[in-house]
Amino acid sequence: MHITENHIKSILEKKEFSKEDITVLLQADKVQRQLIYAKSVEIKEKYIGKYTYFRGLIEFSNLCVKDCYYCGIRKSNQNSERYNLSDEQILQAVAFAHKNKYGSIVLQSGERSDKAFTDRISNLLKTITKNHNGELGITLSLGEQSLDVYSDWVQSGAHRYLLRIESTNRDLYYKIHPNDAAHAYEQRLEALCNTRRAGLQAGTGVMVALPFQTYEDLADDLLFFQNFDVDMVGMGPYIEHSDTPLFGVKAELMPLIDRFDLTMKMIAVLRIMMKDINIAAATALQAIDPIGREKAIRVGANIIMPNITPSENRKNYQLYDNKPCIDEGADDCTTCMEERIQLSGDEIGYGLRGDSPHFFNRGKSL
Ligand code: SAH
Ligand code: SF4
Repeated sequence: MHITENHIKSILEKKEFSKEDITVLLQADKVQRQLIYAKSVEIKEKYIGKYTYFRGLIEFSNLCVKDCYYCGIRKSNQNSERYNLSDEQILQAVAFAHKNKYGSIVLQSGERSDKAFTDRISNLLKTITKNHNGELGITLSLGEQSLDVYSDWVQSGAHRYLLRIESTNRDLYYKIHPNDAAHAYEQRLEALCNTRRAGLQAGTGVMVALPFQTYEDLADDLLFFQNFDVDMVGMGPYIEHSDTPLFGVKAELMPLIDRFDLTMKMIAVLRIMMKDINIAAATALQAIDPIGREKAIRVGANIIMPNITPSENRKNYQLYDNKPCIDEGADDCTTCMEERIQLSGDEIGYGLRGDSPHFFNRGKSL
């Protein structure tokens, strides 16, 4: 398709984008994409302001019952050295976040739904809320659970949930997941709906530039976020892991830099479509470009999740090859990030929870 600058300009003037419009925007070249970024920056300034919020990310365990074809900690990967942080280690990391005025934390792990696991999370949530007087925003990213479990976690102190739909193209979903009951697409969708029913701020997202993924698929993904009226989105480039089945179709992939650029366009277009949601600058961007997350902040994202997992465990939470920050302690990461964010003109919302404005604006016309 030959795309002209005028075509991009005329699309950017519309109030609503069609699937075709988005497909065109995602194919904008190096020069044309600056038009998209100019618009997304303007919208971010108006509806979000200049604050970037930190969420201290604690990847507390890589034990997982699932077998997603793309992920390095899938249960069948025998090369993954398994770990599970103690409550004390988790609480220490949380205290680090609070002390350093990160407004929020994210607890993430492989998926488990046994009672010992779900009860442990409830207890941790209660302890964190008590220890820090309810001052920290708490996001969970612990995979698919029942409505009862999500509700119990809300009662115990959780505010938000991240559950990426990974891809809204059902056929593609089954190319990247086993086609069985444990990995059913409908179940993931139902779980996402249940996070909202339980009263959590609902976050989802997709991997960008997956093998076999088309621009039309990505346009559908963005329209899905809009129709679902999601509060938060995290999208990162797909990066292959050599110990996974999907590594076998590596030849289908775009070069890393193109995956990066496409993710940036996805973030910018989404910011134009959903003005007041929280958009995370995914860690996977940093695996491709050392300042990848800060670049995402510049084109529309407003959330960064510094990794505060104890350094010795980070190397084992390898979802993809070359995961960044593996050797750094939490302090190193934060200091350099703060400087880079200030360089891009934003400020860090220290001590602020930075909830999704959309969650509170729902129903209002912007
Ligand atoms: N187990 C939970 C949370 C941990 S995985 C869950 O699956 O929801 C968090 C996210 O990492 C996934 O949603 C997926 O989008 C991303 N991820 C996994 N493997 C990846 C890879 N190879 N490249 C890029 N992102 C990946
Ligand atoms: Fe487990 Fe999540 Fe990785 Fe799937 S993406 S294998 S659920 S950690």
